Amino acid sequence: PKPLATRVALVTGAASGIGKAIATRLAAEGACVVIADLDLATAQAAAAGIGTEDVAIGVQANVTDEAQVQASVDAAVLAFGGLDLVVNNAGLSLSKSLLETTVADWDLQHNVMAKGSFLVSRAAARVLIDQKLGGDIIYISSKNSIFAGPNNIAYSATKADQAHQVRLLAAELGEHGVKVNGINPDGVVRGSGIFAGGWGAKRAAVYGVPEEELGKYYAQRTLLKREVLPENVANAVFVLCSSDLSHTTGLHIPVDAGVAAA
Ligand code: NAD
Repeated sequence: PKPLATRVALVTGAASGIGKAIATRLAAEGACVVIADLDLATAQAAAAGIGTEDVAIGVQANVTDEAQVQASVDAAVLAFGGLDLVVNNAGLSLSKSLLETTVADWDLQHNVMAKGSFLVSRAAARVLIDQKLGGDIIYISSKNSIFAGPNNIAYSATKADQAHQVRLLAAELGEHGVKVNGINPDGVVRGSGIFAGGWGAKRAAVYGVPEEELGKYYAQRTLLKREVLPENVANAVFVLCSSDLSHTTGLHIPVDAGVAAA
């Protein structure tokens, strides 16, 4: 595979949280990065925080919109001459129980994460196959794709969909030298817009802890007793697309500080 320092990366939902940490890390390793997010000014501000326009650009792309997704892939090719690495990170969580979940809630969760990552992977795969240089597609799925918990049916189901996209695309794109892997984070409270935007308050109420203590609460439930930070997820992205992991595809790496069995 191409060395990371010569690669062009597209990270969706990268104006905030985990995605921003991933884009920052990839740029620090020498890659050129395209930050795609809902709001242009926010995406551009995140890119400017990483570097000048020859290193990082921000584009507006709602991943549920086929044309906007295509435009973000085109922007990568136009700005940096190609595309080698894609991170499906855009997401949101409504954190609702079965009985609370409306059809609109269900559709939104699935449109952004299952359909959105399908659209991004498809648009990117066309370029990756054409270039004949291999590449990586990485999904930021979730521990919830495997473990069942209450009050999260639409989110968890769409994360499980993403996890299966990883296996399916690993099978389909392998012959083109494209690796497809996933990361299952859990409990990334600090820096996460999902947690700040209401999910944190809901989870804190469920666990009976003050919201500002939620990160510590999650840490105590892990095997390592460590809080998971956006940078820890970014480290896993780096490892997955480094030349040293050239023979790994279809894998999901947990970044959750260890889940207790009971
Ligand atoms: P975040 O809110 O900080 O980041 C999500 C980003 O996605 C935001 O910038 C948002 O604007 C963007 N986004 C939302 N809908 C979009 C759309 N339709 N098109 C383009 N961009 C869109 O949250 P985060 O915690 O950094 O989450 C990033 C990813 O990590 C999500 O997929 C989330 O499900 C996953 N994840 C997070 C955790 C956690 O503990 N925080 C755990 C497991 C998985």
